[in-house]
Amino acid sequence: MHKRWTIDKIKAFVENNSESKLLTTEYHGFSQNLLFTCKCGNNFEKTFTKFKNNNQRKCDVCQPPKVSR
Ligand SMILES: [Zn+2]
Repeated sequence: MHKRWTIDKIKAFVENNSESKLLTTEYHGFSQNLLFTCKCGNNFEKTFTKFKNNNQRKCDVCQPPKVSR
């Protein structure tokens, strides 16, 4: 069973599991880019899947994208 995510649950997850804040106020699905504010003040966009499953919970400055080898 897949968990159904709502914007409220996502917001709570973001607040409990990262130092970023969620700016997006509507959730339309897992492929949607959500807008976050990093603790450094930068805004960044990411899908919730990446945020949650790939641990990409900061902006590209604080957490540069991994280079695949
Ligand atoms: Zn940052």
